Amino acid sequence: MVSEQFKGQARLPGFAIPKRYDLTLQPDLIHCTFSGSVEITVDVVAETRSIVLNAADLTFDGDGPVSFRISNSSQELRPSELVHIPEDEILVLGFDDYLPLGVGVLAIRFYGTLNDQMKGFYRSSYDLNGEKKNMAVTQFEPADARRCFPCWDEPAFKATFKITLVVPSELVALSCMPVTEEKINGPLKTVFYKESPIMSTYLVAVVVGMFDYVEGISPDGTKVRVYTQVGKSDQGKFALACENFKSDLVCKICKKNLCLLIFHFDSHHLEILNFNPLITFQYFDTPYALPKLDMIAIPDFAAGAMENYGLVTYRDTALLYDEHHSAAANKQRVANVVAHELAHQWFGNLVTMEWWTHLWLNEGFATWVSYLANDSMFPEWNVWTQFLDQCTQGLRLDALAESHPIEVDINHASEIDEIFDAISYRKGASVIQMLQSYLGAECFQKALACYIKRFACSNARTEDLWHVLEEESGEPVKMIMSSWTKQMGYPVIGIKLAGHELQFNQTQFLSNGSSGDGQWIVPVTLSCGSYDAQRNFLLKSKVDRMDLTDLIKSKNDNGESFWIKVNVNQTGFYRVKYDDNLLARLGKAIEANMLSPTDRFGVLEDSFSLCMACKKSLSSLLSLMNSYRQESDYTVLSHIITVAYKVLKITADATPELSNDIKKFFIILLKSAAEKLGWDPKNEESHLDSMLRGEILTALAFFGHEATLKEAQRRFNAFLADRNSSLLPPDTRKAAYVAVMQTDNSSNSSGFDSLLRVYRETDLSQEKGRILGSLASCPDPDIVLKALNFSLCSEVRTQDAIFCLAGVGRQGRETAWKWLKDNWEFISNTWKSGYLLGRFVGAVVSPFCSEEKVIEVDEFFSTHSKTSFVRVLKQSLEVVKINSSWVLSIKNENTLGGIVNELAHK
Ligand SMILES: [Zn+2]
Repeated sequence: MVSEQFKGQARLPGFAIPKRYDLTLQPDLIHCTFSGSVEITVDVVAETRSIVLNAADLTFDGDGPVSFRISNSSQELRPSELVHIPEDEILVLGFDDYLPLGVGVLAIRFYGTLNDQMKGFYRSSYDLNGEKKNMAVTQFEPADARRCFPCWDEPAFKATFKITLVVPSELVALSCMPVTEEKINGPLKTVFYKESPIMSTYLVAVVVGMFDYVEGISPDGTKVRVYTQVGKSDQGKFALACENFKSDLVCKICKKNLCLLIFHFDSHHLEILNFNPLITFQYFDTPYALPKLDMIAIPDFAAGAMENYGLVTYRDTALLYDEHHSAAANKQRVANVVAHELAHQWFGNLVTMEWWTHLWLNEGFATWVSYLANDSMFPEWNVWTQFLDQCTQGLRLDALAESHPIEVDINHASEIDEIFDAISYRKGASVIQMLQSYLGAECFQKALACYIKRFACSNARTEDLWHVLEEESGEPVKMIMSSWTKQMGYPVIGIKLAGHELQFNQTQFLSNGSSGDGQWIVPVTLSCGSYDAQRNFLLKSKVDRMDLTDLIKSKNDNGESFWIKVNVNQTGFYRVKYDDNLLARLGKAIEANMLSPTDRFGVLEDSFSLCMACKKSLSSLLSLMNSYRQESDYTVLSHIITVAYKVLKITADATPELSNDIKKFFIILLKSAAEKLGWDPKNEESHLDSMLRGEILTALAFFGHEATLKEAQRRFNAFLADRNSSLLPPDTRKAAYVAVMQTDNSSNSSGFDSLLRVYRETDLSQEKGRILGSLASCPDPDIVLKALNFSLCSEVRTQDAIFCLAGVGRQGRETAWKWLKDNWEFISNTWKSGYLLGRFVGAVVSPFCSEEKVIEVDEFFSTHSKTSFVRVLKQSLEVVKINSSWVLSIKNENTLGGIVNELAHK
């Protein structure tokens, strides 16, 4: 068999290269099937008797489904062998004779099923006038175009696409390019689209269903539409004042009373420039490549959004914003995701990674640029401070021995799904931030614009970007950055002050407390006593030292008291471990409000991580937290809350007798901000205050703050009586839901029942999400079980079930584990493969904190594992081991009780 030689290969052979696809698809929305035909113009560039391309879950029935027509000749060849190799998702066409070199047309007819797996060509459903309808949607990234049509399904095989759809006449049919012609033939219509520029298969998209849209025209005439589900009410359209959004687009509210954040989008650049010193350059300095851009909300969607060229698909919650029922956090999420997807139109779509190893070029950059865009559009959101959340999640994952390098080998299509993780997105964006800060914003932007121009309509590798940056900056970018992208992990820089000398040493930071043998070239920055006194250098070796005599002299205090902050404003992707003396000085500087919010965040986060890795005591962490009593910055307070949740969980296992005092202390920490914010929004208050109020009240409810619990119940009752009650606006609803669930139990589950009623009545996905995230936070295991069972019923879309599990508190973790095992067959059959299944495993396993649990979980998955979550399972088990060591370390801290007591009562 000729086909044997092609088995088990990471990539397709390159002896025939696709140039153009003429693709026709006809979905049947009643029977959920589709038929199609494709004519692929290929260039045979090497002697071969075989053509190998990707195909999966397709059938090729009937008479002669495949032919190969030689260009400029009437000769048509039929393969003597047509072998489908399902495990490699390839189709091998074997011919009797060698194919002539040059161009030919490969024609294939095929059939498939509109699946319910949210990938390939799938069905989503929606409600139209009380009737359930199907729509057909594609999701091809990373490697699922092959489930819709046979193709060279790798990012480097770029080709043009001429698409034709045959669909029911009354439906809206969209693809990447504009319609050129529509022919109606009774109940069906044939829709022809303009041929696309060359692009990768994973960016091809088709959507067929019933939709409304709002439309805007960018200054240069690019038509931008946002499609939503057809509304049930006829409240009519009304315009939204857009002055906050700096938008040139018409921004309207559609029939469903959902308004949209639409971004100014002229075809030459994203609107990220108005307030940015970089405006004179126009950030990408390259036009948007297509004649139109559609963005569409899809009711069933596995990820947050997908940047398909010219037809971006979103979850409802990532695109739609309801003025009356969406929270400030929802608005920010929409802004982030839209900016991310629009950035991809350049980073990813115009310039595409050569192979999945370079996925981070797509995701890291789109993530980073989305912050650049939002910082410009919404300067009052302080998004660069909020960026530290991204960085922190990257640091957390990358502190595991089971992490992976940014540039990761991909040897099989099944391995790609797992790398859409915090390493590619968050560490990717963070090392970009570090490099930009090292090279300077202006130089960095010039190099990027050059990179985009040079690789437009083509593919790039990581080193291509380094090369352009080196040309522009003259710095050894490749040498510096390879240490960050080719090896996993990152360093912790130990800092000691000895006389007038500052001593540095770097070791790999691992949360399990061990030191790996990685070494990095670290752009170190430091401030001494004020932000005017700053020093920068590249730490290239394990140890280094710096003489501070000059700085100390200028301070005139012998260097005995001023603070030293390393990693100024947290632009570097590393941690810092100060000696006790330096840390105490930073605590004082925080109390005196001398540090920037980013540095206050950084000092807390580094201390917390060192504590988790058993490198610092919990007592010292709590004493440091006490310096934040007057904290008022949104991002810093939000992080204090995150750290508080984790400390509370771990001490509930380690020192349950201290739990009440620890809660009391955390309530004290939040008191000043909570009193200022109250429950009711103030007139003209800031976006960040609106977000903070919800987070603080939710935290107070978790910490059992009596007054908050009582007030929450009162406001919740008012909300039940009137969904538009001003007592419970969207920003505080989650807090009230969580508070109500804290007191629910199996003999009185009125909170649960009421929330379920609200869930059933609302058609807003964001509201449903808030409720799902609250139901399982109840301490009563019976209610937790009820909530988890509900998440598997048909009232919850499969894309959303995980929200419920993510809300389970410490008291529910055993229940969740038993529930996962009991329902494993159903869950693994429903979510089959893909990253959502991994999230079930991660959410259930990670909260445990004992070695016995590691063994138990390991044993269960030894017979229930799947390749799609192997990495996530290993990482989750490592987290359990880390938790377990942390518990032991806290138990051995003799002074902890005394310190907690003092903090809680002073
Ligand atoms: Zn992305």
